Amino acid sequence: MSTEFIFPSLQHPEAISSFVEACRDLLGDRVSTSPEDRLKAGKDWWPRAWLWDARGKVLSFPDVVVWPESTEEVVALVRLASQHRIPITPRGGGSGVLGGAVPVRGGVVMDLTRMRRIRELHEEDLLVTVEAGILGITLEEELNRQGFTCGHIPQSLALSTVGGWIAARSIGEFSTKYGPIEGMVAGLEVVLPWGEIWRTRVAPRTATGPGLMDLFVGAEGTLGIITAATLRIRRLPEMRRMRSFTFPDLAKGITAVREMIQRGVLPAVCRLYDEMEAAYRFSSVVRKGGPLLLLLFEGESRLVLAEDSVGTEICLDHGAQETGEEPMQHWLKTRFDVSEVEALLKQGAVLDTIEVAATYSRILPLYDAVVGAIQAVPGTVVAFGHFSHFYPDGACLYVSLAGFPGEDREGYHQRCWEAAMHACLARGGTISHHHGIGLQKAPWLGQELGEGLEILRRIKRAIDPHELFNPGKFGV
Ligand SMILES: Cc1cc2nc3c(=O)[nH]c(=O)nc-3n(C[C@H](O)[C@H](O)[C@H](O)COP(=O)(O)OP(=O)(O)OC[C@H]3O[C@@H](n4cnc5c(N)ncnc54)[C@H](O)[C@@H]3O)c2cc1C
Repeated sequence: MSTEFIFPSLQHPEAISSFVEACRDLLGDRVSTSPEDRLKAGKDWWPRAWLWDARGKVLSFPDVVVWPESTEEVVALVRLASQHRIPITPRGGGSGVLGGAVPVRGGVVMDLTRMRRIRELHEEDLLVTVEAGILGITLEEELNRQGFTCGHIPQSLALSTVGGWIAARSIGEFSTKYGPIEGMVAGLEVVLPWGEIWRTRVAPRTATGPGLMDLFVGAEGTLGIITAATLRIRRLPEMRRMRSFTFPDLAKGITAVREMIQRGVLPAVCRLYDEMEAAYRFSSVVRKGGPLLLLLFEGESRLVLAEDSVGTEICLDHGAQETGEEPMQHWLKTRFDVSEVEALLKQGAVLDTIEVAATYSRILPLYDAVVGAIQAVPGTVVAFGHFSHFYPDGACLYVSLAGFPGEDREGYHQRCWEAAMHACLARGGTISHHHGIGLQKAPWLGQELGEGLEILRRIKRAIDPHELFNPGKFGV
Protein backbone atom coordinates (compact mmCIF):
# COMPACT_ATOMS: atom_id res chain seq x y z
CA MET A 1 0.00 0.00 0.00
CA SER A 2 1.49 3.38 -0.97
CA THR A 3 1.86 6.14 1.61
CA GLU A 4 -0.65 8.96 1.50
CA PHE A 5 0.95 12.39 1.82
CA ILE A 6 -1.19 15.32 2.91
CA PHE A 7 1.30 17.68 1.24
CA PRO A 8 3.33 15.73 -1.32
CA SER A 9 6.51 17.32 -2.70
CA LEU A 10 5.82 19.24 -5.89
CA GLN A 11 9.47 19.39 -6.93
CA HIS A 12 10.97 17.97 -10.11
CA PRO A 13 13.33 15.05 -9.24
CA GLU A 14 16.06 16.28 -11.62
CA ALA A 15 16.09 19.78 -10.14
CA ILE A 16 16.27 18.24 -6.68
CA SER A 17 19.14 15.91 -7.48
CA SER A 18 21.37 18.65 -8.92
CA PHE A 19 20.44 20.90 -5.97
CA VAL A 20 21.33 18.14 -3.47
CA GLU A 21 24.66 17.60 -5.20
CA ALA A 22 25.47 21.31 -4.95
CA CYS A 23 24.42 21.32 -1.26
CA ARG A 24 26.79 18.40 -0.58
CA ASP A 25 29.66 20.31 -2.21
CA LEU A 26 28.91 23.13 0.21
CA LEU A 27 28.02 21.34 3.48
CA GLY A 28 29.40 17.81 3.09
CA ASP A 29 27.57 15.44 5.43
CA ARG A 30 25.32 18.19 6.82
CA VAL A 31 22.88 17.34 4.03
CA SER A 32 20.43 14.46 4.32
CA THR A 33 17.99 12.75 2.01
CA SER A 34 17.33 9.88 4.44
CA PRO A 35 13.62 9.09 4.92
CA GLU A 36 14.01 9.39 8.74
CA ASP A 37 15.42 12.93 8.57
CA ARG A 38 12.89 13.99 5.95
CA LEU A 39 9.95 12.62 7.95
CA LYS A 40 11.13 14.40 11.08
CA ALA A 41 11.62 17.66 9.22
CA GLY A 42 8.18 17.40 7.62
CA LYS A 43 6.18 18.01 10.78
CA ASP A 44 5.99 20.11 13.92
CA TRP A 45 3.66 19.89 16.96
CA TRP A 46 0.47 20.60 15.00
CA PRO A 47 -2.24 18.43 16.65
CA ARG A 48 -4.08 17.88 13.33
CA ALA A 49 -0.99 15.99 12.13
CA TRP A 50 -1.27 13.56 15.07
CA LEU A 51 -4.71 12.57 13.77
CA TRP A 52 -3.39 11.93 10.25
CA ASP A 53 -0.41 10.12 11.72
CA ALA A 54 -2.70 7.74 13.64
CA ARG A 55 -4.30 6.78 10.32
CA GLY A 56 -0.95 6.15 8.61
CA LYS A 57 -0.96 9.40 6.60
CA VAL A 58 2.23 11.45 6.35
CA LEU A 59 1.94 15.22 6.68
CA SER A 60 4.77 16.18 4.32
CA PHE A 61 8.02 14.77 3.00
CA PRO A 62 10.62 17.40 2.10
CA ASP A 63 13.18 16.35 -0.49
CA VAL A 64 16.26 17.24 1.53
CA VAL A 65 17.30 18.57 4.95
CA VAL A 66 20.33 20.81 5.47
CA TRP A 67 22.10 22.01 8.62
CA PRO A 68 24.05 25.25 8.00
CA GLU A 69 26.48 26.39 10.70
CA SER A 70 27.06 30.00 9.64
CA THR A 71 25.29 32.94 8.08
CA GLU A 72 27.58 32.62 5.04
CA GLU A 73 26.38 29.04 4.54
CA VAL A 74 22.76 30.19 4.77
CA VAL A 75 23.48 32.81 2.09
CA ALA A 76 25.11 30.22 -0.18
CA LEU A 77 22.15 27.83 0.31
CA VAL A 78 19.61 30.54 -0.43
CA ARG A 79 21.46 31.44 -3.64
CA LEU A 80 21.60 27.79 -4.68
CA ALA A 81 17.91 27.25 -3.93
CA SER A 82 17.08 30.36 -5.89
CA GLN A 83 19.11 29.17 -8.93
CA HIS A 84 17.38 25.78 -8.83
CA ARG A 85 13.97 27.27 -7.86
CA ILE A 86 13.73 25.01 -4.81
CA PRO A 87 11.45 26.10 -1.91
CA ILE A 88 13.19 26.61 1.45
CA THR A 89 11.44 26.17 4.78
CA PRO A 90 13.46 27.41 7.77
CA ARG A 91 13.09 25.33 10.90
CA GLY A 92 14.02 25.98 14.51
CA GLY A 93 12.96 23.54 17.22
CA GLY A 94 9.88 22.40 15.28
CA SER A 95 7.68 23.16 18.30
CA GLY A 96 5.14 25.28 16.44
CA VAL A 97 1.60 24.03 17.05
CA LEU A 98 -0.09 25.27 13.87
CA GLY A 99 1.95 23.66 11.07
CA GLY A 100 4.07 26.76 10.35
CA ALA A 101 7.27 24.78 9.74
CA VAL A 102 5.58 22.21 7.46
CA PRO A 103 7.15 22.32 3.97
CA VAL A 104 3.92 22.10 2.01
CA ARG A 105 5.57 22.04 -1.43
CA GLY A 106 8.55 19.89 -0.46
CA GLY A 107 12.00 21.23 -1.33
CA VAL A 108 14.60 21.86 1.33
CA VAL A 109 14.12 22.19 5.07
CA MET A 110 16.84 24.39 6.55
CA ASP A 111 17.34 23.26 10.13
CA LEU A 112 19.03 26.14 11.98
CA THR A 113 19.73 24.38 15.28
CA ARG A 114 23.47 24.13 14.59
CA MET A 115 23.66 27.92 14.53
CA ARG A 116 23.60 28.16 18.30
CA ARG A 117 26.45 30.40 19.43
CA ILE A 118 26.14 33.32 21.81
CA ARG A 119 28.03 35.98 19.89
CA GLU A 120 28.14 38.77 22.47
CA LEU A 121 26.76 39.66 25.89
CA HIS A 122 26.81 43.39 26.51
CA GLU A 123 26.32 43.97 30.26
CA GLU A 124 26.15 47.76 30.18
CA ASP A 125 23.48 47.82 27.46
CA LEU A 126 21.75 44.67 28.75
CA LEU A 127 21.81 43.15 25.27
CA VAL A 128 22.74 39.70 24.04
CA THR A 129 23.43 38.74 20.43
CA VAL A 130 22.80 35.10 19.59
CA GLU A 131 22.54 32.90 16.55
CA ALA A 132 18.97 32.08 15.67
CA GLY A 133 19.10 28.32 16.21
CA ILE A 134 20.05 28.45 19.88
CA LEU A 135 17.50 26.64 22.06
CA GLY A 136 15.70 28.82 24.57
CA ILE A 137 16.86 26.73 27.50
CA THR A 138 20.53 26.89 26.45
CA LEU A 139 20.35 30.66 26.25
CA GLU A 140 18.45 31.06 29.52
CA GLU A 141 20.81 28.78 31.47
CA GLU A 142 23.88 30.59 30.15
CA LEU A 143 22.36 33.98 30.95
CA ASN A 144 21.41 32.80 34.46
CA ARG A 145 25.00 31.66 35.06
CA GLN A 146 26.13 35.20 34.36
CA GLY A 147 23.42 36.87 36.49
CA PHE A 148 20.90 37.68 33.75
CA THR A 149 17.62 36.40 32.35
CA CYS A 150 16.07 36.70 28.94
CA GLY A 151 12.67 37.05 30.61
CA HIS A 152 11.17 35.09 27.68
CA ILE A 153 10.16 31.75 29.19
CA PRO A 154 7.60 29.97 26.99
CA GLN A 155 6.32 26.60 28.11
CA SER A 156 8.33 25.25 25.16
CA LEU A 157 11.62 26.71 26.47
CA ALA A 158 13.46 23.39 25.95
CA LEU A 159 11.91 22.75 22.52
CA SER A 160 12.09 26.10 20.74
CA THR A 161 14.74 28.44 19.35
CA VAL A 162 15.25 32.19 19.37
CA GLY A 163 14.69 32.30 15.59
CA GLY A 164 11.42 30.39 16.00
CA TRP A 165 10.29 32.73 18.80
CA ILE A 166 10.82 35.76 16.60
CA ALA A 167 9.41 34.16 13.44
CA ALA A 168 6.24 33.04 15.24
CA ARG A 169 5.87 36.18 17.43
CA SER A 170 5.98 34.11 20.55
CA ILE A 171 5.38 35.05 24.17
CA GLY A 172 6.77 33.76 27.45
CA GLU A 173 4.86 32.91 30.61
CA PHE A 174 6.49 35.83 32.48
CA SER A 175 5.23 38.31 29.91
CA THR A 176 3.04 40.54 32.05
CA LYS A 177 6.27 42.06 33.44
CA TYR A 178 8.80 41.37 30.67
CA GLY A 179 6.60 41.71 27.60
CA PRO A 180 6.37 39.72 24.37
CA ILE A 181 9.26 38.77 22.06
CA GLU A 182 8.75 41.74 19.72
CA GLY A 183 9.57 44.09 22.60
CA MET A 184 12.81 42.24 23.26
CA VAL A 185 14.17 42.27 19.70
CA ALA A 186 16.69 45.10 19.43
CA GLY A 187 18.29 43.95 16.19
CA LEU A 188 18.19 41.22 13.57
CA GLU A 189 20.42 39.59 11.01
CA VAL A 190 18.31 38.25 8.16
CA VAL A 191 19.15 36.46 4.92
CA LEU A 192 16.84 37.72 2.21
CA PRO A 193 15.34 35.77 -0.70
CA TRP A 194 17.75 37.45 -3.15
CA GLY A 195 20.71 36.07 -1.21
CA GLU A 196 21.89 39.19 0.62
CA ILE A 197 22.25 39.76 4.38
CA TRP A 198 20.47 42.59 6.20
CA ARG A 199 21.94 43.52 9.59
CA THR A 200 19.83 46.10 11.34
CA ARG A 201 21.44 48.83 13.43
CA VAL A 202 20.96 48.24 17.16
CA ALA A 203 19.45 51.26 18.92
CA PRO A 204 16.88 51.64 21.70
CA ARG A 205 14.47 53.11 19.16
CA THR A 206 14.59 54.44 15.63
CA ALA A 207 12.41 56.72 13.51
CA THR A 208 13.97 55.83 10.19
CA GLY A 209 10.73 55.27 8.31
CA PRO A 210 8.34 52.34 8.78
CA GLY A 211 9.51 49.53 11.06
CA LEU A 212 11.19 47.34 8.43
CA MET A 213 12.65 45.01 11.06
CA ASP A 214 9.11 44.20 12.20
CA LEU A 215 8.41 42.70 8.76
CA PHE A 216 10.43 39.68 9.84
CA VAL A 217 8.93 39.37 13.32
CA GLY A 218 5.97 37.05 12.93
CA ALA A 219 6.64 36.41 9.21
CA GLU A 220 7.06 32.66 9.92
CA GLY A 221 10.00 32.40 7.53
CA THR A 222 8.04 33.64 4.51
CA LEU A 223 10.12 36.79 3.94
CA GLY A 224 13.61 36.05 5.25
CA ILE A 225 15.70 33.62 7.28
CA ILE A 226 16.68 35.02 10.66
CA THR A 227 20.27 34.00 11.32
CA ALA A 228 20.95 36.06 14.47
CA ALA A 229 19.18 38.41 16.85
CA THR A 230 20.08 40.95 19.49
CA LEU A 231 17.72 40.63 22.45
CA ARG A 232 17.10 42.92 25.40
CA ILE A 233 17.76 41.05 28.65
CA ARG A 234 17.34 41.74 32.41
CA ARG A 235 19.38 41.27 35.56
CA LEU A 236 18.22 38.28 37.62
CA PRO A 237 15.56 39.32 40.11
CA GLU A 238 16.60 39.88 43.72
CA MET A 239 13.32 38.67 45.20
CA ARG A 240 10.20 36.69 44.37
CA ARG A 241 6.77 36.83 46.03
CA MET A 242 3.97 34.40 45.19
CA ARG A 243 0.28 34.52 45.94
CA SER A 244 -2.98 33.00 44.85
CA PHE A 245 -6.61 33.99 45.26
CA THR A 246 -9.98 32.50 44.46
CA PHE A 247 -12.71 34.83 43.19
CA PRO A 248 -16.49 34.57 43.44
CA ASP A 249 -16.65 34.73 39.62
CA LEU A 250 -14.47 35.35 36.55
CA ALA A 251 -15.72 38.91 36.06
CA LYS A 252 -14.41 39.93 39.49
CA GLY A 253 -11.08 38.26 38.79
CA ILE A 254 -10.70 40.05 35.45
CA THR A 255 -11.63 43.39 37.01
CA ALA A 256 -9.06 42.95 39.78
CA VAL A 257 -6.26 42.10 37.36
CA ARG A 258 -7.24 44.96 35.02
CA GLU A 259 -7.11 47.40 37.91
CA MET A 260 -3.72 46.07 39.01
CA ILE A 261 -2.17 46.38 35.56
CA GLN A 262 -3.74 49.76 34.84
CA ARG A 263 -2.39 51.08 38.16
CA GLY A 264 1.12 49.93 37.24
CA VAL A 265 1.39 46.71 39.28
CA LEU A 266 3.09 44.22 36.98
CA PRO A 267 3.32 40.63 38.24
CA ALA A 268 5.74 38.63 36.08
CA VAL A 269 3.32 35.69 36.08
CA CYS A 270 -0.38 36.45 36.16
CA ARG A 271 -2.80 33.65 35.34
CA LEU A 272 -6.54 33.58 35.99
CA TYR A 273 -8.11 30.12 35.55
CA ASP A 274 -11.81 29.51 35.09
CA GLU A 275 -13.44 27.30 37.68
CA MET A 276 -13.21 24.13 35.60
CA GLU A 277 -9.54 24.45 34.69
CA ALA A 278 -8.69 25.51 38.26
CA ALA A 279 -10.35 22.33 39.57
CA TYR A 280 -8.59 20.18 36.93
CA ARG A 281 -5.09 21.53 37.55
CA PHE A 282 -5.06 22.66 41.18
CA SER A 283 -7.55 20.56 43.19
CA SER A 284 -4.60 18.89 44.98
CA VAL A 285 -3.45 22.24 46.38
CA VAL A 286 -6.60 24.42 46.62
CA ARG A 287 -9.66 23.17 48.44
CA LYS A 288 -11.90 26.13 47.68
CA GLY A 289 -13.69 26.14 44.31
CA GLY A 290 -14.07 29.07 41.93
CA PRO A 291 -11.80 30.90 39.48
CA LEU A 292 -8.19 30.92 40.65
CA LEU A 293 -5.64 33.72 40.20
CA LEU A 294 -1.90 32.98 40.42
CA LEU A 295 0.52 35.86 40.91
CA LEU A 296 4.30 35.93 40.95
CA PHE A 297 6.05 39.23 41.58
CA GLU A 298 9.79 39.53 41.03
CA GLY A 299 12.50 42.16 40.83
CA GLU A 300 14.17 44.48 43.29
CA SER A 301 12.90 43.73 46.79
CA ARG A 302 11.45 47.14 47.69
CA LEU A 303 9.53 47.27 44.41
CA VAL A 304 8.32 43.68 44.78
CA LEU A 305 7.00 44.32 48.28
CA ALA A 306 5.14 47.40 47.08
CA GLU A 307 3.62 45.59 44.07
CA ASP A 308 2.65 42.63 46.24
CA SER A 309 0.98 44.87 48.79
CA VAL A 310 -1.02 46.93 46.27
CA GLY A 311 -1.87 43.83 44.20
CA THR A 312 -3.14 41.95 47.26
CA GLU A 313 -5.23 44.91 48.40
CA ILE A 314 -6.89 45.17 44.97
CA CYS A 315 -7.72 41.45 44.88
CA LEU A 316 -9.25 41.51 48.38
CA ASP A 317 -11.26 44.63 47.45
CA HIS A 318 -12.82 42.59 44.63
CA GLY A 319 -14.03 39.82 46.90
CA ALA A 320 -11.07 37.44 46.56
CA GLN A 321 -10.00 34.96 49.22
CA GLU A 322 -6.34 34.30 49.62
CA THR A 323 -5.23 30.70 49.00
CA GLY A 324 -1.49 30.93 49.74
CA GLU A 325 1.58 30.42 47.64
CA GLU A 326 1.27 26.66 47.16
CA PRO A 327 -0.77 26.84 43.92
CA MET A 328 1.90 29.09 42.38
CA GLN A 329 4.64 26.69 43.60
CA HIS A 330 2.67 23.82 42.08
CA TRP A 331 2.48 25.66 38.75
CA LEU A 332 6.22 26.39 38.80
CA LYS A 333 6.93 22.70 39.41
CA THR A 334 4.61 21.34 36.71
CA ARG A 335 4.63 24.02 34.03
CA PHE A 336 6.93 22.21 31.54
CA ASP A 337 5.23 18.83 31.98
CA VAL A 338 3.18 17.83 28.92
CA SER A 339 3.00 14.10 29.69
CA GLU A 340 -0.80 14.26 30.06
CA VAL A 341 -0.99 14.93 26.29
CA GLU A 342 0.61 11.62 25.39
CA ALA A 343 -1.52 9.68 27.88
CA LEU A 344 -4.78 11.18 26.55
CA LEU A 345 -3.76 10.68 22.91
CA LYS A 346 -3.16 7.00 23.63
CA GLN A 347 -6.75 6.76 24.86
CA GLY A 348 -7.95 8.15 21.51
CA ALA A 349 -8.69 11.72 22.58
CA VAL A 350 -8.58 14.68 20.22
CA LEU A 351 -6.71 17.50 21.95
CA ASP A 352 -5.82 21.05 21.11
CA THR A 353 -5.29 24.52 22.52
CA ILE A 354 -6.52 27.78 21.02
CA GLU A 355 -5.19 31.18 22.09
CA VAL A 356 -6.94 34.40 21.17
CA ALA A 357 -6.98 37.90 22.66
CA ALA A 358 -9.31 40.85 23.14
CA THR A 359 -9.65 44.12 24.97
CA TYR A 360 -11.09 44.05 28.51
CA SER A 361 -14.50 45.27 27.36
CA ARG A 362 -14.77 42.22 25.06
CA ILE A 363 -12.86 39.55 26.90
CA LEU A 364 -15.65 37.96 28.95
CA PRO A 365 -18.19 37.81 26.09
CA LEU A 366 -15.34 36.36 24.01
CA TYR A 367 -14.63 33.74 26.68
CA ASP A 368 -18.32 32.74 26.86
CA ALA A 369 -18.59 32.58 23.07
CA VAL A 370 -15.40 30.63 22.33
CA VAL A 371 -15.60 28.15 25.21
CA GLY A 372 -19.37 27.75 24.70
CA ALA A 373 -18.94 27.16 20.94
CA ILE A 374 -16.40 24.37 21.51
CA GLN A 375 -18.47 22.80 24.28
CA ALA A 376 -21.40 22.67 21.86
CA VAL A 377 -19.50 20.62 19.26
CA PRO A 378 -20.72 17.00 19.63
CA GLY A 379 -17.89 14.84 21.01
CA THR A 380 -16.42 17.51 23.28
CA VAL A 381 -15.74 16.20 26.76
CA VAL A 382 -14.10 19.28 28.11
CA ALA A 383 -13.36 22.87 27.06
CA PHE A 384 -11.99 25.30 29.60
CA GLY A 385 -9.67 28.24 29.71
CA HIS A 386 -7.47 30.70 31.49
CA PHE A 387 -6.39 34.26 30.95
CA SER A 388 -2.68 34.99 30.91
CA HIS A 389 -0.46 37.67 29.35
CA PHE A 390 -2.26 40.76 30.62
CA TYR A 391 -1.84 44.27 29.17
CA PRO A 392 -3.23 47.68 30.15
CA ASP A 393 -5.95 47.26 27.48
CA GLY A 394 -6.74 43.54 27.46
CA ALA A 395 -5.61 39.94 27.82
CA CYS A 396 -5.01 36.61 26.14
CA LEU A 397 -7.58 33.82 26.48
CA TYR A 398 -6.08 30.33 26.24
CA VAL A 399 -8.59 27.52 25.73
CA SER A 400 -7.85 23.80 26.05
CA LEU A 401 -10.18 21.23 24.54
CA ALA A 402 -10.48 17.46 24.68
CA GLY A 403 -12.98 15.32 22.81
CA PHE A 404 -13.79 11.68 22.12
CA PRO A 405 -15.74 11.99 18.87
CA GLY A 406 -15.47 8.36 17.71
CA GLU A 407 -14.24 7.65 14.18
CA ASP A 408 -14.45 11.13 12.65
CA ARG A 409 -11.64 12.69 14.65
CA GLU A 410 -10.36 14.97 11.88
CA GLY A 411 -13.87 16.24 11.21
CA TYR A 412 -14.40 16.88 14.92
CA HIS A 413 -11.10 18.76 15.18
CA GLN A 414 -12.05 20.95 12.22
CA ARG A 415 -15.52 21.65 13.66
CA CYS A 416 -13.98 22.79 16.95
CA TRP A 417 -11.66 25.19 15.13
CA GLU A 418 -14.46 26.54 12.94
CA ALA A 419 -16.65 27.11 15.98
CA ALA A 420 -13.86 28.82 17.95
CA MET A 421 -12.59 31.04 15.13
CA HIS A 422 -16.10 32.09 14.14
CA ALA A 423 -16.95 32.95 17.76
CA CYS A 424 -13.69 34.87 18.21
CA LEU A 425 -14.08 36.96 15.05
CA ALA A 426 -17.75 37.66 15.80
CA ARG A 427 -16.82 38.97 19.28
CA GLY A 428 -14.05 41.26 18.02
CA GLY A 429 -11.08 39.19 19.19
CA THR A 430 -7.86 38.49 17.34
CA ILE A 431 -7.51 34.90 16.14
CA SER A 432 -3.89 34.61 17.27
CA HIS A 433 -2.23 35.97 20.37
CA HIS A 434 1.09 34.08 20.24
CA HIS A 435 1.05 30.86 18.24
CA GLY A 436 1.13 32.63 14.87
CA ILE A 437 -0.88 31.48 11.85
CA GLY A 438 0.78 28.41 10.29
CA LEU A 439 -1.61 26.19 8.36
CA GLN A 440 -4.28 25.81 11.03
CA LYS A 441 -5.33 29.47 11.31
CA ALA A 442 -4.67 30.56 7.70
CA PRO A 443 -8.29 30.07 6.50
CA TRP A 444 -9.47 32.82 8.88
CA LEU A 445 -6.61 35.28 8.40
CA GLY A 446 -8.39 37.19 5.62
CA GLN A 447 -11.44 37.77 7.83
CA GLU A 448 -9.25 39.31 10.48
CA LEU A 449 -6.89 41.33 8.26
CA GLY A 450 -9.36 42.51 5.60
CA GLU A 451 -7.39 44.56 3.06
CA GLY A 452 -4.29 43.83 5.18
CA LEU A 453 -4.11 40.40 3.55
CA GLU A 454 -3.62 42.10 0.17
CA ILE A 455 -0.80 44.18 1.69
CA LEU A 456 0.80 40.95 2.89
CA ARG A 457 0.38 39.37 -0.57
CA ARG A 458 2.01 42.33 -2.31
CA ILE A 459 4.91 42.42 0.15
CA LYS A 460 5.46 38.69 -0.37
CA ARG A 461 5.41 39.06 -4.16
CA ALA A 462 7.83 41.99 -4.05
CA ILE A 463 10.33 40.38 -1.68
CA ASP A 464 10.07 36.74 -2.76
CA PRO A 465 8.77 36.79 -6.37
CA HIS A 466 9.50 33.10 -6.97
CA GLU A 467 7.68 32.10 -3.76
CA LEU A 468 10.58 30.10 -2.42
CA PHE A 469 10.56 31.08 1.28
CA ASN A 470 8.17 28.85 3.24
CA PRO A 471 5.60 28.93 0.43
CA GLY A 472 1.90 28.19 0.89
CA LYS A 473 1.58 29.99 4.22
CA PHE A 474 -0.71 32.84 5.34
CA GLY A 475 -2.93 32.01 2.37
CA VAL A 476 -0.82 34.37 0.22
C1 LIG B 1 4.58 22.09 24.71
C2 LIG B 1 4.57 23.40 23.96
C3 LIG B 1 4.43 24.58 24.67
C4 LIG B 1 4.43 25.81 24.01
N1 LIG B 1 4.36 26.96 24.74
C5 LIG B 1 4.42 28.15 24.11
C6 LIG B 1 4.43 29.36 24.86
O1 LIG B 1 4.42 29.36 26.09
N2 LIG B 1 4.47 30.53 24.18
C7 LIG B 1 4.53 30.56 22.81
O2 LIG B 1 4.59 31.66 22.24
N3 LIG B 1 4.50 29.43 22.08
C8 LIG B 1 4.49 28.24 22.69
N4 LIG B 1 4.52 27.09 21.94
C9 LIG B 1 4.61 27.16 20.48
C10 LIG B 1 6.07 27.21 19.93
O3 LIG B 1 6.99 26.74 20.90
C11 LIG B 1 6.43 28.63 19.52
O4 LIG B 1 5.66 29.00 18.40
C12 LIG B 1 7.91 28.82 19.18
O5 LIG B 1 8.13 30.19 18.95
C13 LIG B 1 8.36 28.04 17.96
O6 LIG B 1 9.79 28.04 17.95
P1 LIG B 1 10.58 26.89 17.16
O7 LIG B 1 12.03 27.21 17.24
O8 LIG B 1 10.17 25.56 17.62
O9 LIG B 1 10.08 27.17 15.68
P2 LIG B 1 9.54 26.16 14.57
O10 LIG B 1 8.34 25.45 15.04
O11 LIG B 1 10.67 25.37 14.03
O12 LIG B 1 9.10 27.23 13.45
C14 LIG B 1 8.04 28.13 13.67
C15 LIG B 1 7.91 29.04 12.43
O13 LIG B 1 9.03 29.90 12.34
C16 LIG B 1 9.77 29.67 11.15
N5 LIG B 1 11.19 29.76 11.55
C17 LIG B 1 11.83 29.02 12.47
N6 LIG B 1 13.09 29.46 12.61
C18 LIG B 1 13.24 30.50 11.76
C19 LIG B 1 14.31 31.38 11.44
N7 LIG B 1 15.50 31.27 12.02
N8 LIG B 1 14.10 32.34 10.51
C20 LIG B 1 12.90 32.49 9.91
N9 LIG B 1 11.86 31.68 10.16
C21 LIG B 1 12.03 30.71 11.08
C22 LIG B 1 9.35 28.31 10.65
O14 LIG B 1 9.45 28.22 9.24
C23 LIG B 1 7.90 28.27 11.11
O15 LIG B 1 7.09 28.96 10.20
C24 LIG B 1 4.52 25.84 22.58
C25 LIG B 1 4.66 24.65 21.87
C26 LIG B 1 4.68 23.45 22.55
C27 LIG B 1 4.85 22.18 21.75
